[in-house]
Amino acid sequence: MPSELDSFQTFIDDILIRNKSVLDQTTKLQDACTHLCRNISKAATTCGCISINAHKQPYPTIEELSMDDLKALMKTHIDGKLCPNCEELLEKEMGRILFYLGAIANTFDLSLSDILTHEKNRTELLGKFSLR
Ligand SMILES: [Zn+2]
Repeated sequence: MPSELDSFQTFIDDILIRNKSVLDQTTKLQDACTHLCRNISKAATTCGCISINAHKQPYPTIEELSMDDLKALMKTHIDGKLCPNCEELLEKEMGRILFYLGAIANTFDLSLSDILTHEKNRTELLGKFSLR
């Protein structure tokens, strides 16, 4: 049974005509990433539903704290919650990112489902020590 990602890649393959060139796909992916970052900024600077209070992350030595303590100490620097409008804009760009990522995967005959599994396995090997 195909996974949701497999079905999504088949869907992309069926409907993608205009942006078949890998150059179109990569630049569309960059464009979607740019718009995602822009929409996050606009949520703070134009809408105001969130604020971004960035400051240096505390990096105590590993010996001082457990990994769980360190995880709790690290901040997103986001205060507030996205309003429905901003949330919709972020979802739209994340969807575009997934679409063009799937298109690039199709171009190189790669499976997003396999990529997801491999990445999860690689990250699980290192666990919290991957420091992502
Ligand atoms: Zn908003």
